Amino acid sequence: MRTEMAEDMVIIGAGIAGLTTALGLHRMGLRSLVLESSDSLRVTGFALVLWTNAWKALDALGIGDFLREQHVLLDRLVFTSTISGLATSQLPLRADSKHESREVRSVKRNALVEALAKDLPRGTIRFSSKVVSIEEADNLKLLHLADGSILKTKVLIGCDGLNSVVAKWLGLEKPVSSGRWAIRGYAEYLGGHGLEPNFLQFFGNGSRCGLMPCDEKTVYWFFTRTPSAKYKEIEENPAMMKQFVLSNLGNVPEALVNAIESSDFGSIVASPLKFRKPWNVLWGEITKGNVCVAGDALHPMTPDIGQGGCAALEDGVVLARCLAEALLKEPGRESNSGVEDKEDEFNRIKMGLEKFAKERRWRSFELISTAYVVGSMQQSEGKVIGFLRDNLLSSLLSGLLLKKASYDCGKLNIS
Ligand SMILES: Cc1cc2nc3c(=O)[nH]c(=O)nc-3n(C[C@H](O)[C@H](O)[C@H](O)COP(=O)(O)OP(=O)(O)OC[C@H]3O[C@@H](n4cnc5c(N)ncnc54)[C@H](O)[C@@H]3O)c2cc1C
Repeated sequence: MRTEMAEDMVIIGAGIAGLTTALGLHRMGLRSLVLESSDSLRVTGFALVLWTNAWKALDALGIGDFLREQHVLLDRLVFTSTISGLATSQLPLRADSKHESREVRSVKRNALVEALAKDLPRGTIRFSSKVVSIEEADNLKLLHLADGSILKTKVLIGCDGLNSVVAKWLGLEKPVSSGRWAIRGYAEYLGGHGLEPNFLQFFGNGSRCGLMPCDEKTVYWFFTRTPSAKYKEIEENPAMMKQFVLSNLGNVPEALVNAIESSDFGSIVASPLKFRKPWNVLWGEITKGNVCVAGDALHPMTPDIGQGGCAALEDGVVLARCLAEALLKEPGRESNSGVEDKEDEFNRIKMGLEKFAKERRWRSFELISTAYVVGSMQQSEGKVIGFLRDNLLSSLLSGLLLKKASYDCGKLNIS
């Protein structure tokens, strides 16, 4: 049986991008419905690094301080060669001057999505609701769900990640493989880990890895590499993955080895690293009429500058502001019946989404491209690139990370 329902604004995906957009809209006084295919809030990978730009977005949403209380402020970013075992550059992460403030923390993913979801009105997220296709009906979009039901909407926002049905509907190309994989995990030390609050990154011999504390008891680590054909056999076997990481670490401190050894098998996940070709974001249709994409559905990128989730937070704030500006400012012409003309309403939504696309297109292009270049250099096995990276480019690369993190997505108010 086909059941048809109607909602003004529908967001597909209750990940970081979808929840941020819904919370941003809610803060602006607008209701939305989030459709999520899983039966509960779902996260992959234990933690993620949130840079200064993400904290600005979280403050705009009013949940920054809640998350600050649960996660340690990182002090320094230290790059070390796994060939020499020596630090190649260091960067203060806490600089706070008249011109620049910095804030970097490793945040537990479930704490982040729960914080984004907790202030949403009851009923905003509808779980077990997988959208399988999108159909046009005049200016409305009809969403076909896996259970056979149909939902009509005036605004459709695709926050449905890497394999987005909305990106496909918009005609964007599929994300491509970088050829690299990441293995991530975490360790819990009930008596405290005793680590300094630093973000340690290690490079050399074709691998890149990192270690940092989230709070007093947990540490998060990651490892990226271009795998050999044999990797296929281990990707679903956490014990083999752990062994693979340990045997490819090179010259690293005992704390990293210990964190990996102490990680439960259940905490270890492997992910292929994909990205959207940057020119597809620049020239492709990232919005069309009353439809747009945000988060990984818009700009999947390799994780080398730790910005995918931060950019999803920025997207949500900018998108909520653009839609609120379009829908709440200067009410449009009303017809004789007192109801705003449907065509006018559609045009206002379209303009709001075009403004969002204008603000996000270049930023998305820059982030995808920078992440790809940084990752290729940091993970390079080549002797020349390795020498340049460790001796000449190390500070340049770390400076790039800070530059990309200094972006301010602005507040949630209408000018
Ligand atoms: C190894 C690795 C390390 C990373 N490290 C960092 C980091 O340190 N810092 C950082 O900022 N970022 C990092 N990222 C990137 C970050 O994880 C992503 O950019 C972010 O999670 C994207 O969020 P999203 O909401 O756009 O997408 P997702 O998290 O993929 O959420 C999409 C949601 O949509 C739902 N969905 C999908 N299709 C449908 C459908 N058809 N119908 C209904 N629901 C649907 C899914 O179930 C999911 O809940 C990393 C990524 C990787 C792979």
